[in-house]
Amino acid sequence: PYVTRFAPSPSGLLHLGNARTALLSYLAARKGKGRFILRIEDTDEARSTEAHVQALLEDLRWFGLDWDEGPDVGGPHEYRQRHRRAIHETWLAKLDAAGLTYPCFCTPAELSLSRKRQLAAGKPPRYAGTCRALDAHRRAVRLAAGEPAALRFRVPAGQIVAFGDLVHGEQRFATDDIGDFIIRRADGSTAFFFSNAIDDALMGITLVLRGDDHLTNTPRQILILQALDLPVPEYAHVALLLGMDGAPLSKRHGAQSLGEFRERGFLPGALRNHLVRLGHACQHDGWLDDAAMCAEFELSRLGKAAARFDAAQLHHWQKEAVAQLSQEDFLRWIGAFLPPGLEAPRAAAFAAAVRPNVEFARDAQPWAEVAFGRLTNFMPDAVAAIEAAGEAFYAMAAQVFARPGLEFKQRLRELGQASGRKGPALFMPLRAALTGATHGPELAGLLSLVPDEEVQTRLAAAMQ
Ligand code: GLU
Repeated sequence: PYVTRFAPSPSGLLHLGNARTALLSYLAARKGKGRFILRIEDTDEARSTEAHVQALLEDLRWFGLDWDEGPDVGGPHEYRQRHRRAIHETWLAKLDAAGLTYPCFCTPAELSLSRKRQLAAGKPPRYAGTCRALDAHRRAVRLAAGEPAALRFRVPAGQIVAFGDLVHGEQRFATDDIGDFIIRRADGSTAFFFSNAIDDALMGITLVLRGDDHLTNTPRQILILQALDLPVPEYAHVALLLGMDGAPLSKRHGAQSLGEFRERGFLPGALRNHLVRLGHACQHDGWLDDAAMCAEFELSRLGKAAARFDAAQLHHWQKEAVAQLSQEDFLRWIGAFLPPGLEAPRAAAFAAAVRPNVEFARDAQPWAEVAFGRLTNFMPDAVAAIEAAGEAFYAMAAQVFARPGLEFKQRLRELGQASGRKGPALFMPLRAALTGATHGPELAGLLSLVPDEEVQTRLAAAMQ
């Protein structure tokens, strides 16, 4: 069993790509009855906000994830990274004591100039090592003078960092290509490379599953962990989520944040079912509930190719998600559109009648009006159908519907005989007059909820 984590930075809302990474990490843990930890990486004080932290927790819960340890549920650690500063300092001091760090006084302007020179010379830019070469005396003088200094990690020369990525396979990075990197910024905050790796090790994370934009960070993090004799986790770098056009998901693909999908009325299970299939080859193509999703999840099924978000697929899963709701949950979901105090049997009949026609809760609203209210809205094609059928047809319908104790099927048969119509020619004008639309839920079910007088009112209106 793996101990995995989701480690978002609360500098924005949870977008679909993050949600998918979180889901895959969660499944990797749950699959083997391991543990799933939530850690908030909020060391960037300028960009992290409390509102984002709260929104993250809420969105993740809504999405259907739960975690064994985290800022809100507790556990043996502190799960807000900004509260772990003292711990990070302790481990920085160990690197320092081992002679593996040095202060760097290079200014941003100097660094950018050096980067440009290297690029111009056709070399991959990396820290040139300017401050590595300073002698102890010069270093002490500049520090004593209060010159701002970052702290860099001394990357060992001439080594290869190798690790087996569970998605991308064997990875090899030459340390000579990795410049000495910053582990503490001049303002005193620890860099992502450092705090992220230290926290994973201290929290006992055994599998780091994250976006493959982090793949090249991994050798640096492994170097830190090895230098400190801390355990190195396994890694699975999953392909990024793209839009249908192959470009990274962005505003122009429509909604991006999980919260936006929630507000648009999507059910969390629909998103889970779509996202779990992106870049992860599921064997089973039907609906997966939480247990089935865990059973289905395999690290070996994660693909290297970028996954594409597909709105049509999401709509397919939304319909499945609606079909999966218990009747009680379905009624709760559409509750805002039902008349107050609706009796249970009528509510149940309504749910049974409209569910196949409801993709979003708000879709129930017009049908609730048809079933429980007065008919006020007529679609243009319904108006045309009513006009085409003519007064005589509705007069016959009114007679058939006035006779008590007949089932809808019988009424329809009698109206067919009386009018000489059959099939859609019989059905469509009736539907148009009684529901104001030419498409919709099964008519018999809907009409069973409409009082007889209201049926007569609607037929009378169609005669005019
Ligand atoms: N806070 C980092 C991010 O949101 C975490 C990356 C990781 O999972 O290691 O990108």
